[in-house]
Amino acid sequence: GCATKAPTKDLFTVNSPNVRYTDDFINTKYTYRTTAITQNADGKYVAAPKETLYDFKVDRKIPKVGVMLVGWGGNNGSTVTAGIIANKRGLVWETKEGKQSANYYGSVMMGSTTKLGTDSKTGKEINIPFHELLPMVHPNDLVVGGWDISGMNLADAMDRAKVLEPTLKGLVRKEMAALKPLPSIYYPDFIAANQEERADNVLPGTKASWDHVEQIRKDIREFKSANGLDKVIVQWTANTERYADILEGVNDTAENLLQSIKTGHDEVSPSTVFAVASILENVPFINGSPQNTFVPGAIKLAEQHGAFIGGDDFKSGQTKMKSALVDFLINAGIKLTSIASYNHLGNNDGMNLSSQKQFRSKEISKSNVVDDMVAANTVLYKEGEHPDHTVVIKYMPAVGDDKRALDEYYAEIFMGGHQTISIFNVCEDSLLASPLIIDLVLVAEMMTRIQWKAHDAEGGDDKYSGFHSVLSILSYMLKAPLTPSGTPVINALAKQRAALTNIFRACVGLEPESDMTLEHKLF
Ligand code: NAD
Repeated sequence: GCATKAPTKDLFTVNSPNVRYTDDFINTKYTYRTTAITQNADGKYVAAPKETLYDFKVDRKIPKVGVMLVGWGGNNGSTVTAGIIANKRGLVWETKEGKQSANYYGSVMMGSTTKLGTDSKTGKEINIPFHELLPMVHPNDLVVGGWDISGMNLADAMDRAKVLEPTLKGLVRKEMAALKPLPSIYYPDFIAANQEERADNVLPGTKASWDHVEQIRKDIREFKSANGLDKVIVQWTANTERYADILEGVNDTAENLLQSIKTGHDEVSPSTVFAVASILENVPFINGSPQNTFVPGAIKLAEQHGAFIGGDDFKSGQTKMKSALVDFLINAGIKLTSIASYNHLGNNDGMNLSSQKQFRSKEISKSNVVDDMVAANTVLYKEGEHPDHTVVIKYMPAVGDDKRALDEYYAEIFMGGHQTISIFNVCEDSLLASPLIIDLVLVAEMMTRIQWKAHDAEGGDDKYSGFHSVLSILSYMLKAPLTPSGTPVINALAKQRAALTNIFRACVGLEPESDMTLEHKLF
């Protein structure tokens, strides 16, 4: 409770008997309406409206937040850092097309709006910036730091990344040059051998150890106190690792995982060590890469500590398109029969992924993204039936960070006809990923300030708890969303956005946005 800033003036307040504002909190009584289904002996369904009453409590005090990136000196890390500095200083720079000013395009929180409601006089939609729905941190106020196995300062790292315009780099160079990643842990077996020459900023030891956990925890605490922060969020944007083998007695339970770190077991990855250190510091940890950082023992440890975790793998380009397009096709009643996805890229991520085991991690995370949409359509697909789906990634140094993604969608339409959709997507990969890094921090931080309990008519204040440790609300930004064990994975982009919007609305006592607009249809 050492927040530094008084609540800013809210863009809107909610006028409802169920919502109460105090200086510190927004208290809401919320009725969650769902539909409960039972199946009769004859196979028919009975649908019954169901209501659950919750109390939500949102902490209105916006804390001072730091983000620590693992892989800070990489393309994403250096780009997001320069981008935040440029926004903070309101920079404008020359490009061949004219003047360009800093923005947060590509961030759902900062670049998109959401419908608040309908103007009671004019009947027009009122839309507000997404980040105004709840009292969120502004990315300009984030303090950025982190670790990298490459000791290069952030100015040189930004040159190495070859992402930003030279004119912009010139304007942030001085500030970036003063930023230097902390030494990190390097277990060569987990990333491609071609990364070895980068590794000049490493802590002693090439396998997991308790010293590594302690050092990372110390780094987090020191970053927090050196910058006067209320909160820190840690995010993995380092190289894609190979999968760790899931082994009984090694990483299956929290206790076994902690023991395996202490004994230096070969199957404990650097990303898992970072996750464990963050969990033990009660700092949210988000995995932006595809590997299985969250082995069962890590998830159980997070649950034991009530610490937030989120993952896996930023959903930036090809997969984001896929989770929108496939949702559209299948929901339009068109039978998608195959997806062929080719990528080539020339940045360091591409070089790392040119190694088979690391590619395999990416292939897995890119492969399951249509499962929920296919399974939901029992008209088009028989049980177990699935479109063919292939993912290819090739390293092509010449194209640098400007990743190419070529996708062919092949579908069956009315009466045996066929539809072929071909997409060629070119963009700077790191300019897509950077705003996702920001959204993940903003939403994860917000979730640390939302509490709930089963509604209690007396309004007692004692039994509130946080959301489940596994933050599936982050799914919109992630390719292979991690969800609490036993709960469904939603990949469909529109559903993911609706969950984000409507959970935020619920926290201030507003109904979900249903898009029925009966007020425009019944009069
Ligand atoms: P990058 O190779 O430029 O950066 C990764 C950085 O991590 C490097 O600077 C490397 O030195 C560092 N690193 C490696 N192992 C480390 C360790 N153990 N500790 C600390 N630092 C370590 O890659 P990038 O383009 O910035 O992408 C980062 C990650 O994000 C990759 O795994 C990539 O697959 C994933 N990703 C990127 C996108 C995108 O659109 N850019 C989308 C989804 C996922």
